[in-house]
Amino acid sequence: MPVSGLPPYDDANIFARILRGEIPAKKVYEDEWALAFHDIAPQAPVHVLVIPKGRYCSFADFSASASDAEIGGFVRAVGKVARDLGLEAPGYRLLANMGEHSGQEVPHLHVHLFAGRPLGRMIPSA
Ligand code: AMP
Repeated sequence: MPVSGLPPYDDANIFARILRGEIPAKKVYEDEWALAFHDIAPQAPVHVLVIPKGRYCSFADFSASASDAEIGGFVRAVGKVARDLGLEAPGYRLLANMGEHSGQEVPHLHVHLFAGRPLGRMIPSA
């Protein structure tokens, strides 16, 4: 069920196509709830995207409509990917864009996992 006022899920989006195996991805991790793969245009030495398997446009949609099992499974998958990549000691950054002001390009919820160097300020100053 889409969040009121937001567009419905678009099954043609690129991450839906990756989930269906229609286009390739450099897979890092997969389980019942989530798929993780390398970003095609990395912005840090490590730049992995973690997506839920369900049809959710964004964090707004996911947090409102996903089941507790989906939310728990997804959050645990994000943590496992970071742990398995050995990122807990050096640290990492998670980022999820939602909607126009964030610049979200792909309308399937994804968490960016950045790491591999000091990442600087959270966002550019205004
Ligand atoms: P966002 O701006 O948060 O929607 O981020 C979308 C991200 O998806 C960008 O960092 C893109 O580089 C990445 N991306 C787009 N297409 C692909 C693809 N086919 N495989 C992996 N990453 C992709």
